[in-house]
Amino acid sequence: MWISPRSGVPQNVHIAFSDNAVNFSLGKTSSEALSLQNELSKRLTADRVCLLRQIHSNYVVPADPTSVVEADAHWTAEPNLALVILTADCIPLILCNREGSLIAAVHCGWRGVAKGIVATVLSQLPVDPPDLLAFMGPAICGECYEIGEEILPQLQLKHHSRHLTPCLDAGKYLLDLPGLVHSQLTSSGVGHVELSDQCTFHDSDRYSSHRRTRTNQRQVSCVQIRNGTHTPKKVPSNLVI
Ligand SMILES: [Zn+2]
Repeated sequence: MWISPRSGVPQNVHIAFSDNAVNFSLGKTSSEALSLQNELSKRLTADRVCLLRQIHSNYVVPADPTSVVEADAHWTAEPNLALVILTADCIPLILCNREGSLIAAVHCGWRGVAKGIVATVLSQLPVDPPDLLAFMGPAICGECYEIGEEILPQLQLKHHSRHLTPCLDAGKYLLDLPGLVHSQLTSSGVGHVELSDQCTFHDSDRYSSHRRTRTNQRQVSCVQIRNGTHTPKKVPSNLVI
């Protein structure tokens, strides 16, 4: 099933986060990627669906439904173009402006966050942060995400950060990645930030979790601007995810 943010989404913007009933495997061939895109197009009732080959980077691109590029965030002002992010513990972060005329979908894992994906997206969107609304989908929570202290410098976190809880094992911490991304968004001036109350690791009945099972299944998160007009469906032929 799909869930949507609780409040604050502009009327002409559709945001949906799936559970594991709507998940997909990461494909390795172009034909698998193509069937994934066709399936998404049907399920999302979108004219076109835009996917990324997510690589835990800070690369941000304008959305392009004719190819799948290596990046971890895409954005568009085009109506009826669904932007998709696939996750299984990482945060699917959706952004839109208050007017609902610009949207972005971002893959936020710890590596991307360490590389500054949140700040990079905010700097590349042609909208000032106070005019942006942010919605985070189901992700691994701060009680479940154990990390080693060796990655703290990359995340620019001190040991006493409020986004960390020390574990009994020396050198291990629980990282509240959604809380960290929330802080980065609000300190950058983003006007509204909504966190999900769903944890992909906790809720094994409902979500795929890479940490829990090393699965290659992914939940699907999407956003699109709807304006009532539809353009012909275009199916690219060179997709590889
Ligand atoms: Zn949890």
